[in-house]
Amino acid sequence: MNVLIIGAGYVGTTTGLLFAELGHSVTLIDVDGKKINDMQNGKLFFYEPGLDTLLTKHLCTGKISFEIDHQRAIKDNHVIFICVGTPQNQDGSANLNFLREASEFIGSNLIEYKIIVIKSTVPAGTSKQVKQWIEKTKKDPVPFDVLSNPEFLREGSALKDALYPDRIIVGSENEQATSTLQELYMGIDSPFIVTTPSAAELIKYTANSFLATKISFINEIAKLCDKLDINVQDVAKGVGLDSRIGPLFLEAGIGYGGSCFPKDVLALIDTAKKNGTDLSILEKVHDINENQPDYFIKKVKKRLNGLSAKKIAVLGLSFKSQTDDIRQSPSLKIILSLINEGAIIEIHDPVAKLPYNLADIVCQQDSVEETMIQADAVLICTDWPHYRTIDWAVIKNKMKSPVIFDGRNMLNAGEMRSIGYIYEGIGYK
Ligand code: NAD
Repeated sequence: MNVLIIGAGYVGTTTGLLFAELGHSVTLIDVDGKKINDMQNGKLFFYEPGLDTLLTKHLCTGKISFEIDHQRAIKDNHVIFICVGTPQNQDGSANLNFLREASEFIGSNLIEYKIIVIKSTVPAGTSKQVKQWIEKTKKDPVPFDVLSNPEFLREGSALKDALYPDRIIVGSENEQATSTLQELYMGIDSPFIVTTPSAAELIKYTANSFLATKISFINEIAKLCDKLDINVQDVAKGVGLDSRIGPLFLEAGIGYGGSCFPKDVLALIDTAKKNGTDLSILEKVHDINENQPDYFIKKVKKRLNGLSAKKIAVLGLSFKSQTDDIRQSPSLKIILSLINEGAIIEIHDPVAKLPYNLADIVCQQDSVEETMIQADAVLICTDWPHYRTIDWAVIKNKMKSPVIFDGRNMLNAGEMRSIGYIYEGIGYK
């Protein structure tokens, strides 16, 4: 099958490579010519384990190609996936400007039947809106269908998630178009759930908001654990073994970040408000998450008696490990607070880079050990597995004072103390 992907970002590129791997002929287009140019040369603009190898493979098989002529790309492909960004507006609602542009571009170039699939995360009812945008811009009376097929991949394990998804959700009102999508996903062993487009759209937001709720919930319990001197990991383990709850997303820390959870929680609150209902539970989830980096900083300030002129080593910049994505990263919020408090910072992250406005801060990609020399304290902000295997006993002698604040509860508190560190986690001492 010939598939066009509009928007060669994290989701578009992963989706395109998945379909190429399943044997389809995939074309990717993007308004950002540099991204396309780089990918044509086998270079991804983001870090995602395994994806670069697959790109190289399918550039060779010819199953993946990049089209500069966007009109021709619409003409040549039967199924069109829209994978553009849907960022957050100031008021928390989803910004659908990129989606509108892509829809109108499809409409103005529609000369024969196409199946248009929205993969971007969009509020319930958006597929109707996309239909209208296409209807308004198309010149000929050509039929088309708009389906919803939300994406559930996680950055850091995008390829695995695409190849082995928990489920494929398709919102469709046309049986034939549904069958085409079923054919497209042939080879993927997972439940294929067909529902209405609006329900499919709401499933995506509900799933992300539920996971965000789990995180904020355990973070609140962690604060109570700090007061009661109980280890939150023991609580999470005991709770997570309940098959009705499950162990995932019960890791206390400095809060969720990234390009999805923060904006999706706010967008769902907005949808509720616009429909005259109340999702105050999510407002609380959002507030807890916003305050979590401050909770961490307060611990640091208290222990170090202020931060002015203290040298702080920050380990991890990305919003989680295995990705270079720093969008809404709690680590960045912590770094900004440290700067405001007058601390001297050095950062380490194996792949992520600082944004331009912070480019004068030292950010090591190689030696994490160097970052910690003469530090008054180490703050772990991203759970890069490598941080577990650092020779902490050796590092201790190179620091000014052996203090670790573990924002991801990833080190063994007992071991750290036996080496001689002062160690504090979140709900974990
Ligand atoms: P991204 O910013 O990485 O990629 C979007 C791409 O679309 C960009 O390369 C941009 O240049 C391009 N684009 C914008 N307008 C265009 C247009 N008119 N024509 C062609 N290209 C255009 O975004 P992403 O992280 O891939 O997310 C895309 C969507 O998928 C969002 O709605 C997001 O919420 C959702 N999603 C993201 C993830 C994730 O982990 N990143 C997971 C699931 C769902």
